[in-house]
Amino acid sequence: MWVDLGEIMVAKAKCSVCGNKIDISGIPPRLEGVKIYCRICGATSLHKF
Ligand SMILES: [Zn+2]
Repeated sequence: MWVDLGEIMVAKAKCSVCGNKIDISGIPPRLEGVKIYCRICGATSLHKF
């Protein structure tokens, strides 16, 4: 999911377990997807760009 915040595009992923929005803008995109760690519930989910 891409969120337009003015001039910068900020990438955010949503945790599939608790719905927490995780900032993934600092993570380089990969074709196979990136693993994101939810700090709220501790779940690791795969996010595809
Ligand atoms: Zn979570």
